[in-house]
Amino acid sequence: MLDIARQRCFNHPAREAVARCPECRRFFCRECVTDHEGRAICASCLARLAAATGERRRPLARAARLIQVVSAVAVVWAFFYLMGRGLLTIPAAFHEGTLWKASYWEEQ
Ligand SMILES: [Zn+2]
Ligand SMILES: [Zn+2]
Repeated sequence: MLDIARQRCFNHPAREAVARCPECRRFFCRECVTDHEGRAICASCLARLAAATGERRRPLARAARLIQVVSAVAVVWAFFYLMGRGLLTIPAAFHEGTLWKASYWEEQ
């Protein structure tokens, strides 16, 4: 195991290192590391990770938005389609107000 007390910051050779970046394996002083998801990561690796996740997220977000739009259109289309079908399948007796009477007499 490396003795961290004898290590110097990668950016500041005069300063003692307090943390080792798990990404680039270089030593850094307290000022040069940032807490990122529970890990002490150096500024350059943090920028690299942020850029990588940003690039990975963008097409996904676009796809998610597209899926949302498509599903919204599908839901609206299905709603009107089923409503149109529903209106066609409702018996004419319903509109004439005799459906209730007809079923009432059938049950007797
Ligand atoms: Zn790093
Ligand atoms: Zn430093």
